[in-house]
Amino acid sequence: MTSETFSKWKSLVSQIWYEKEKICLLCSRKSIETICPECQEIYFQPQMRRCISCGKLIANQGTQCKDCLSGIGPKGLMKVVTLGYYENAWRELICNVKFKSQPYLLLGISDCLTELAMKNLPPPDAVVPVPIHPHKLAERGFNQAEIIASILSNHLGIPIKNYILRTKNTLPQTSLGRKERIENLHGAFEIKEKVMKDEIIWLADDVTTTGATLEECAQILKTNGVKEVYGVCLGAGKEE
Ligand SMILES: [Zn+2]
Ligand SMILES: [Zn+2]
Repeated sequence: MTSETFSKWKSLVSQIWYEKEKICLLCSRKSIETICPECQEIYFQPQMRRCISCGKLIANQGTQCKDCLSGIGPKGLMKVVTLGYYENAWRELICNVKFKSQPYLLLGISDCLTELAMKNLPPPDAVVPVPIHPHKLAERGFNQAEIIASILSNHLGIPIKNYILRTKNTLPQTSLGRKERIENLHGAFEIKEKVMKDEIIWLADDVTTTGATLEECAQILKTNGVKEVYGVCLGAGKEE
C-alpha cells in the first residue's frame, strides 16, 4: 500500500468511526449516544420513581409524592412522566434551549423522550403543547413545549393540536412559592380551538415543579370535553 492510499484509507476509516461517535450533550465526553450512559444515570435517575400526579422524582416506594398524597398536588392528570431531575447540566441544557435560542439541542434527546412517553403512557389522540404568551413567543421566536410536542409527533405520527392559548403573561413559575404559582396561573389559559370530545391527550412542557401549569391546562381541556390528560416533561423537581 502506498502512503497516499494508506492516508486515504485512514481518513475513510476515521470518518466512519467518527460518524458513529458522538459528543455527550451534557458532559461533552465522547459517547455512542447523545446523552452518555453516565449522564443518563446522573440526570435521568432511572432508579427513582416519578410521582404519578405531578412527575416529581421520589425515593419512596409509593406512587405519589408527599404533597400529592396530602392532596395539594394536581388532580387533573392521569399520569405525569418526566425525563430527568431539573438540576446542573440537565437544567443548563433546558435553559440553553429556552434562553439562548438553541432549540436544536432537543434533537439530541428525541429518542429518550419518545421512549419515555411510549413506554409509560397509553397512545394518545393528540399532543398538546403548553402554550407561552404571544409576547414571549415574539421575543423568543419559538415555544420550547411545541418543539417537545413536535418531536413526539414526528416520531410517533401523533397529531399536534394547539387547543390552548395563554392569555396572561405570567411571572416565571420558578420564582414563586406553591400558593403564588396557583394564583399566578389563575385565568392564564383559554381554549383556542374547538376541542374534540373524549380524546386522550399528552400535554407537553419543558419543566414541571409543583405541576400547577400542567394542572391548569389539564383542567381547561377536561372542562372542554377531553377524556384523559397525561403530562410529558423534560425536567422535574425532586422530593427532599
Ligand atoms: Zn455525559
Ligand atoms: Zn406529586
